[in-house]
Amino acid sequence: MSVKEQTGRGLSFVKRVYPARALGLGLGALAVGAALLPQGHHPLFWVLWALNGFIWPHLAYFKALRSRTPFQTERRHLLFDSTSGGFWVAAMGFNPLASSMIIMMLWMNNIAAGGVRLFLKGVGGSVAGLIIGLLIFGWQPNLETGQLIVFSCLPMLVAYPVAIGSITYRLAIQLHKQKELLKQLSRIDGLTGLYNRHYWETRVADLIAMVKRTAQPLSLVLLDVDHFKSINDTHGHLAGDQVLQQLARLLRLNLRESELLGRYGGEEFALVLPNTGKEAAYATAERLRRIVQLAHFDSDKGVGDLRCTISLGVASYHTGFHSYSDWFRAADSALYAAKEQGRNRTVSAAGGIFAVDLASR
Ligand code: GH3
Ligand code: MG
Ligand code: MG
Repeated sequence: MSVKEQTGRGLSFVKRVYPARALGLGLGALAVGAALLPQGHHPLFWVLWALNGFIWPHLAYFKALRSRTPFQTERRHLLFDSTSGGFWVAAMGFNPLASSMIIMMLWMNNIAAGGVRLFLKGVGGSVAGLIIGLLIFGWQPNLETGQLIVFSCLPMLVAYPVAIGSITYRLAIQLHKQKELLKQLSRIDGLTGLYNRHYWETRVADLIAMVKRTAQPLSLVLLDVDHFKSINDTHGHLAGDQVLQQLARLLRLNLRESELLGRYGGEEFALVLPNTGKEAAYATAERLRRIVQLAHFDSDKGVGDLRCTISLGVASYHTGFHSYSDWFRAADSALYAAKEQGRNRTVSAAGGIFAVDLASR
C-alpha cells in the first residue's frame, strides 16, 4: 500500500473516530470528576484531569490529521486513552459505576476502531495505567456510589450509545453508496461510458427471456469502425480514443433508452433492438451509419478534423438459432460481408424472428 493510500484511509479513520472519542472522554471526565471530588486533590491534579478529558481529544485529532501516518497515530492515541483510563480508575479508588462506565466507553472505542486486536491491546494499556495509578495513589478504595456520581454518569449513559449508533448508521449508508457505485462501475466501459460486454450480455439474456415469453421480434446489430487502425496510425492512439468516446456518445444520443448499446470490444459496438424486426433494424442501422458518415470528430490536434465510417451487420432472432452464439455469428457474418463489400454499409443476415438461449452458450 502506498503512503498516499495509507494517508487517505487514515484520515477518514481519524475523522470517523473523533466524535466518539471527544464525546466519550468529555462525558467520562464528568463521571471521574464526581468520583474524585470527595478526595480533595491538589489543583494541579485537576488541571491534569481537565486536560485529559476536554483538551486532549481535540489536540489528538489535529495531531493525527497532520501526521504522515494518521491511521497508526490515531491507534496509538486510542491506546493512550485506555492507559489513562486505567490510571483514572486507580485514582478514583475503583469507584464501581464511574470505573465500569469509562472502561466500557474506552474499550468500545478500541474494538469499534481496531477489532479484537486493538481491544486486547487496550485492555493491556488499561492494566498498565491501573498499575501506574496504584503505585502513585496506593490502594484507597472508594466504593460508595453517591447521588452526584450517579447523576454525572447519566449524560454518558444516554448520549454515548446514541452517538455510536449514529456513527454506525452513517457508516452503513456510506458502505451502501460505495457498493452501488462499485456495481455501476463494474457495468460500465471506462473509455466510452457505455455498458461493457459482460453487463451488456447479461442484459441481453434478460431481453431474450422476455422475448421467449412474449414472442416479440428482437434484432442484433454489430458495428465496427472502418479502418480504425489507420486513424490510430495517422493521428495517434489518443485521437483514436477520443473518436471512440465521441462515436459512443453520438450513437447513444441517437438511440432510445430501451435500445441496448454496449462496447463489445476495441472499436466494435453491439446493439440489441427490442420489439424490432429485420426491416426496422436495418433501417436503424442505416440511420446510424449515415449519422456517423456525416459526423466530424474532435481530437487533441483539432476541432472536427477527424472523420470515420462504420460497417454494420444485422441479424434478427431466428427459430433456427440454438444459442446466443448462433445469433451473434449471424450478425458477425453480416458485418464481415459489409466489410467485404467495401465498408461503410449495412448487411442483413438472412432469416427471421426468434428463439435463442444465452444460457446455453
Ligand atoms: P476494418 O475496417 O477491417 O475494421 O479495419 P480496422 O483497422 O478497423 O480493424 P483492425 O481490427 O485491423 O484494427 C482495429 C484497431 O482498433 C486496432 C486497435 O489498435 C484499435 N483499437 C482497439 N481498441 C482501441 C482503443 O480502445 N483505443 C484506440 N485508440 N484504438 C483501439
Ligand atoms: Mg474490429
Ligand atoms: Mg474496424
